[in-house]
Amino acid sequence: MRIPCILYSDDFLGHDLPGHVESRERLLAIMERLRPMSGRLEFSEPPPAGISDLEAVHQPWYVKSILGHGRGRLDMDTYMSEGSAAAAMRAAGAAIEAVDLALSGRSLSAGMVRPPGHHALPAQAMGFCLFNNAAIAAMHALKKAKKVLIVDWDVHHGNGTELVFYGRPDVLYFSVHQYPHFPGTGAADDTGTGEGEGYNVNVPLPAGSGDGDYVDAFQRILLPIVGSYRPELVIVSAGYDTHHADPLGDMRMTAAGFGELASLLKSACSANVVLLLEGGYNIEHLPSCVEASLLGFMGEDYGRISGERTAAAAERIHEAAAIQKKYWRL
Ligand SMILES: [Zn+2]
Repeated sequence: MRIPCILYSDDFLGHDLPGHVESRERLLAIMERLRPMSGRLEFSEPPPAGISDLEAVHQPWYVKSILGHGRGRLDMDTYMSEGSAAAAMRAAGAAIEAVDLALSGRSLSAGMVRPPGHHALPAQAMGFCLFNNAAIAAMHALKKAKKVLIVDWDVHHGNGTELVFYGRPDVLYFSVHQYPHFPGTGAADDTGTGEGEGYNVNVPLPAGSGDGDYVDAFQRILLPIVGSYRPELVIVSAGYDTHHADPLGDMRMTAAGFGELASLLKSACSANVVLLLEGGYNIEHLPSCVEASLLGFMGEDYGRISGERTAAAAERIHEAAAIQKKYWRL
C-alpha cells in the first residue's frame, strides 16, 4: 500500500498538564478530523525509540534524566507529567518509523506526535520539547541516505534542530519563522559553520506575514535550493502556530496556506516526505491546517490561499535571498 501513513499512539496523550497550551486536546482534535479519512490514509502505532536512537542527538546523561524524571516543570514553559517519558520515547519512535516508511517507498508518512521536538537541544529541554523528533529522524535517515532536507514552517525557529546540524552538509535545515520571536534564534546570516556552511537557511519574517509571503519565501529561496541540493528524504517540522488565529504567533496564514506550501515542496522535489507535528495551539483551526497540509502533499484539493504579499516580508525575503546567493543559485 502506498497511501499515506499516519503514525499515532494514545501514549501521546499521557503527556499532560491541565491548562497548558500544548495540550492533549490538540491531538484529540486532529485525530478526530483524520480518522474519517481512513481509506485515503492508513493508521499505524509506532514502537518507542531505542536509547541509541535518542543518543544519536542527545547526551546520554540527558536521555537518562528525562526518562527517569517524574512530574514537574523543566523550565517556565516545559513540563513533564507521569506519562511524558513514554510519550516522548514513542514520539521519537514515530519519527524513526516514518523515516523507515519513507525510505522504503512510502511517499508520505506523518507522525502526529506530542510532545513537539524542534526546540529540544542535545542536553536541554526547551519550549515544550523534550526530545528533538526531527533531528532524531534525520540522524536515523543518514544510516541509509546521504542528503536529508528538514523544512520547518512552525512560527518559531527550530533552534534545537539548527544546532544539531549546524556544522553538517548532509542535513540541510531550512526554517521560515516569525522574527524576532521565541526562542530568539534564526537570523538570516546564521548560515552554518565549517563543512555545514551554506546548509543552514533561515528566512526570518516579520509579524503579520501571510500565505502569499510564505509562498514567496518558498518560491524564491527554498525551491531553488531543493532543486540543486536534491535531498533523498524531506522531513517537515510541521508547526501550525503560523495560522492567523494561533495564540502563540502573530502570522496570518490560513489552513489552505499549509496545503500550498506542501504542494509547492512536493512539486519541487521527488523525495518522500516525513511530516512531524510541532506546534499549533488554536484547537478550532489546527485540524483543518493539518488536513490541508496532508492534502497538499497528496496532490489533492486543499482550498484557496490568500495570495496577498506584504512589503515588510518581501524586504526580509530579499535580504535572506541575498545572503543565500553566496551558496546557491537563486
Ligand atoms: Zn511553534
